[in-house]
Amino acid sequence: MQKPNNRLANQTCIVTGANSGIGEAVATAIGRDGANVVINYVSHPEIAEEIAHKISIDNLCGDAIAIKCDVSKESEVIALFKQTINHFGTVDICVPNAGLQRDAALHEMELKDWQLVLDVNLTGQFLCAREAIREFLHRGMRPEVSRSLGKIIQMSSVHQLIPWAGHANYAASKGAINMLMQSICQEYASYKIRCNSIAPGAIQTPINKNVWGNPEALNDLNKLIPYKRIGVPEDIGSTAVWLASDESEYINGTTIFVDGGMTCYPGFTTNG
Ligand code: NAD
Repeated sequence: MQKPNNRLANQTCIVTGANSGIGEAVATAIGRDGANVVINYVSHPEIAEEIAHKISIDNLCGDAIAIKCDVSKESEVIALFKQTINHFGTVDICVPNAGLQRDAALHEMELKDWQLVLDVNLTGQFLCAREAIREFLHRGMRPEVSRSLGKIIQMSSVHQLIPWAGHANYAASKGAINMLMQSICQEYASYKIRCNSIAPGAIQTPINKNVWGNPEALNDLNKLIPYKRIGVPEDIGSTAVWLASDESEYINGTTIFVDGGMTCYPGFTTNG
């Protein structure tokens, strides 16, 4: 593994849904660049504790703790931030990453599956961003750690741009994240708060095991990826660290697509 750069030393980061896939990789990468990390989870505390333990005992990393919270519940998100601030003093970076899919053809989609996806993927991001901004404004600048008052990195998807038949609830939630992120940027940039999104393409995690676990489906997926490989969670981790660091200070209100070129209309590679 590459030696970390300690770009986030003495900062604290909350990563939601951090006991699996992309969230775990983001939390680990941010910890390895020196930040303290909160591993948020809603189920499987033992996995969250194990990830926090691994980060804390690595002396190149900041400290880490695991905190339970369902991001779709206002009182739990408020408690997540309160516990983090009690433990680490403040929050400098927030990565609302938790997300899920409940797929169905639109005419068969039940309201509860529409609602759950919107509650977790969108309302969860609103609640986390709101609590983060409240803490940034309350705490004030810490020029010794960052030139920004605070950083929010929302986990979107290529499906904020690419429509997705059979997944309308998911695509709608990710499309809305783009407008949430840009509106936050417009509203709070003058306070030196940065809000950006990462839009992963196909990344090998439990959310899409049905695709990468099946050679035929993986072959079909590769046709959609000009770079011809499925992404790995570390591709997102390294992007998140950079977006959280002062190296990207002037980047605000932007989505970084980390997708091997998936959004470049691969169907036209051989002249359409
Ligand atoms: P994953 O299933 O491995 O991880 C999702 C995490 O969210 C899990 O830890 C889960 O427990 C957590 N979670 C679900 N509901 C929650 C709730 N109510 N409160 C708190 N946590 C909750 O999937 P992943 O691929 O790592 O997905 C992470 C994010 O990346 C999601 O927002 C997903 O939409 C996005 N994404 C993933 C891909 C991909 O190809 N894997 C592509 C684009 C976007």
